[in-house]
Amino acid sequence: MRNFFFLIVLFFLSQWLLKKLRRANERAQQGDAQAGTASAGNAGGTRRARATSGGGNGAAAQGTPQLADPLIRCVQCGVHTPRSESIVVAGERFCCADHARRHASRPSGRDAR
Ligand SMILES: [Zn+2]
Repeated sequence: MRNFFFLIVLFFLSQWLLKKLRRANERAQQGDAQAGTASAGNAGGTRRARATSGGGNGAAAQGTPQLADPLIRCVQCGVHTPRSESIVVAGERFCCADHARRHASRPSGRDAR
């Protein structure tokens, strides 16, 4: 009879340990903001948080670096080019080296006169 009782306690203990391990993993993946909400709620709250924010958060984290290439307008011709392909000359952005040279050879300011 004691053995049976011990088995039940062991079962609950293992369940509690598994829960704790999963929570630790979630905190490591989601960050401090999600951990704060998870610890505030009880078991039911954490289940909901895992279902809603777990998958969405991961997808957003993976998608952001690919989109971080803003378009920049060429000063000479006005064409929008990705930031990684643009050329910066004297603080002005150009789509190609040829337009940078043209812009420099045709100064619109008063320095030319
Ligand atoms: Zn251009």
